[in-house]
Amino acid sequence: MGDSLGKLRHELEVAQRALAEAEERCARLHAENLAAMEEFEDTRKQIERVKQEWMAALDVVEDPIFLHDKDFRILRCNLAYQRYAGIPYAQIIGRHYYEVFPLTHAPLRNCLQRLEKTAVAGQEEDVEFGAHTFRSRAYTVNDQQGGYLYSVHILDDITERRKAAEALAANEKRFRELVETISDWVWEVDEQGRYTYCSPRVKDLLGYEPAELIGKTPFDLMAAGEAARVGDIFGRHIAAREPLRCLENTNLHKNGQPVVLETSGTPVFDAHGTFKGYRGIDRDITERKRLERELEYQAHTDVLTGLHNRRHFFELAEQELTRSRRYGKQLSLLMLDVDQFKLLNDTYGHHVGDTVLQKLSEICTRTLREIDIAGRIGGEEFAILLPETMADHALEVAERLRLAIAGATVQREQGDCPVQFTVSIGITSLVATDSQIDELLRRADAALYVAKQAGRNRVSAEEVT
Ligand code: GH3
Ligand code: MG
Ligand code: MG
Repeated sequence: MGDSLGKLRHELEVAQRALAEAEERCARLHAENLAAMEEFEDTRKQIERVKQEWMAALDVVEDPIFLHDKDFRILRCNLAYQRYAGIPYAQIIGRHYYEVFPLTHAPLRNCLQRLEKTAVAGQEEDVEFGAHTFRSRAYTVNDQQGGYLYSVHILDDITERRKAAEALAANEKRFRELVETISDWVWEVDEQGRYTYCSPRVKDLLGYEPAELIGKTPFDLMAAGEAARVGDIFGRHIAAREPLRCLENTNLHKNGQPVVLETSGTPVFDAHGTFKGYRGIDRDITERKRLERELEYQAHTDVLTGLHNRRHFFELAEQELTRSRRYGKQLSLLMLDVDQFKLLNDTYGHHVGDTVLQKLSEICTRTLREIDIAGRIGGEEFAILLPETMADHALEVAERLRLAIAGATVQREQGDCPVQFTVSIGITSLVATDSQIDELLRRADAALYVAKQAGRNRVSAEEVT
């Protein structure tokens, strides 16, 4: 009995020790557990904080961003996405994105399906959401083993950019059409003066396709002398970076014909202010120049004879007088009048009289030098200025003229005998006191009167005052 009690006590003691050990272990485990839980809680809080920070960061981004799983269910989204979706965060998360967007932007199925493809292909794509255009960029995120985790979509609102690009393109189109429609040739040259752009109008103006001129300079289209002249003028403007305004230059058409162009241009600088060349227009003024020359000719020329008219003769004579006086040169003047012209008109008719005046002018032009100036200053009166000619030489010229005229004939109707005619000529030469051409004309007229009085068909250098 005593033994069994002792045994029992011993077992109890063993059990109590085991219990105490178990309790001790339990307490230790509990303490460890508590520490682990605290650590876990810390970590969870840390993760939550990081998540909050990232979400806050993503919420600042103005572009909608969302994450979805492989079934296109939305896992997360930023504030911008919520704004575009028009519903709170809680109603977005976990829903298929087909269900989210159509709430505010129906019907978007096609767009969203394109988004799916984009996600698969990992490409960019522009999609329309209502009045907005987004550039969708999709990225797939995988785990370390390459298994699919989720996709990230960033929607970049390019509405304003697209509008600006469209406005730019419309502007560009408008200016291109304008440039290609106007009758002037529009061009650009680089800093070396080489064409970098030519509007198609150049084909009409100079016969070249725009592509043929790219890399050439304006001077390649001119004869050597003109290229030197224009190069000098252009060069000065270009060196000063000045605009070119209505500079006339003669170019050669591809077929060799001269084409007068009027060039205007403005220097071009890049964003840093570096000179990049010129941009401008060329206008074909060939016809205008021809008309100007024609008008000038008409304003200066006597219609019947083709000689200088009275007004132009006086202009040229005054210039010649000034020049002769300045350089101390000789100068002589002849006054020539058809003899008995009234009688000739009366006898043969006015038409024959006209033909006589033409014949006489022809003889003058043929007999005189290039530098001599002949004008019709009255009905049948002509004045001839002989630069660098002294009195006795002028007398020889006058005599030669008189004889040539006296030997000439004008044909009337067929079968009629030809008409002959004569002229009287008065001569004078420049003296130191002459300051105006009128003074010489008066003296020559007085000498002519002497020739008439002496019987006509003669030359006189004498004057009766
Ligand atoms: P003189 O020898 O003294 O010069 O006599 P004239 O008859 O030549 O001189 P006058 O001044 O009397 O006559 C000039 C004539 O010239 C009168 C006019 O009818 C004529 N006449 C003037 N202009 C023209 C013209 O353009 N054509 C023709 N056919 N005759 C003209
Ligand atoms: Mg007369
Ligand atoms: Mg006369």
